[in-house]
Amino acid sequence: MSDNTKTKNDNVLLEFIDVKKYFPIRQGVFAKTKGYIKAVDGISYDIRKGETFGLVGESGCGKSTTSKLVLLIEPITSGKILFDGKDISNLSQSERQAYRESVQPVFQDPTGSLDPRCRVSTIIAEPLQVRKNMTKEQIHARVLEVLEMAGLRSDHAELFPHQFSGGQRQRIAMARALSTEPKLIILDEPISSLDVSIRANMMNQLLDLQAKLGISYMLIAHDLAVILHMSTRVAVMYVGKIVETGDSKELYEHTAHPYTKALFAAAFHSANEGALILPGEVASPYNPPSGCHFHPRCPNAMPKCKEIEPLLKEISPGHKAACHLFK
Ligand code: SF4
Repeated sequence: MSDNTKTKNDNVLLEFIDVKKYFPIRQGVFAKTKGYIKAVDGISYDIRKGETFGLVGESGCGKSTTSKLVLLIEPITSGKILFDGKDISNLSQSERQAYRESVQPVFQDPTGSLDPRCRVSTIIAEPLQVRKNMTKEQIHARVLEVLEMAGLRSDHAELFPHQFSGGQRQRIAMARALSTEPKLIILDEPISSLDVSIRANMMNQLLDLQAKLGISYMLIAHDLAVILHMSTRVAVMYVGKIVETGDSKELYEHTAHPYTKALFAAAFHSANEGALILPGEVASPYNPPSGCHFHPRCPNAMPKCKEIEPLLKEISPGHKAACHLFK
């Protein structure tokens, strides 16, 4: 690892440095580029070892594209993502394989990610098959170990995904993610498809596993209550940008950005209780409003909000907001 890519803080596991992901929009017979969808537009943050970092925002804000960049499903357009100090866009083949083992996903809909023709043991063992130093017996033992960690039984190994409930299928996905002893798990809406009655149980089990194994989570959710329950720190995204970030407790007690305030109001109060209901839809990342992208929906908008884009600035230690209300 070269010194120029090593992070300064040893406690940092993943670092985003001014990361952008633009998708070109092509038109005509020659597929000429007529513009870009700026799905992720210059975000910087870090995820520390053993913490849960929550990314929250409405659909289309860029949070799922962010997870695809970390999972190497999409290449970044510019900026850098460092993992353990190493730039993930310049990995050799062997480093890429090691990285994939260190960073595992758990997606919203476990049904789509579990092959219905395979037994659970095969599904969980799949990420381990590339390991040349593991025997069949060792792989099977690891399958049983992670099944138990995820709250399932050893006899579940020989069943098929359709023989489980939604909550159990999400546990299978979790067991598969744990199989390679990852340092980071991307939890993309991990409980939103589950029955309300089992959501709290699943959240607490994820937190127990984290305390036991010291893994980091990048938690993506549109539900602020879930984010606050599980996360150490939070970033709020709007049209590809981070508009507010800080410790979850600080964000809850001293919410600064009007958009975050609206998300909190929607999550914790009904309209009858005076919750702020935002007018309009989330702006398009293809042609976002000028200045502050949030200005057409913001109850505090001022003339300069249409003209000047607010930068993300520290408003108290560790708490940043991108809004002209703060000097
Ligand atoms: Fe609202 Fe202006 Fe702040 Fe944007 S910069 S959130 S429009 S007050």
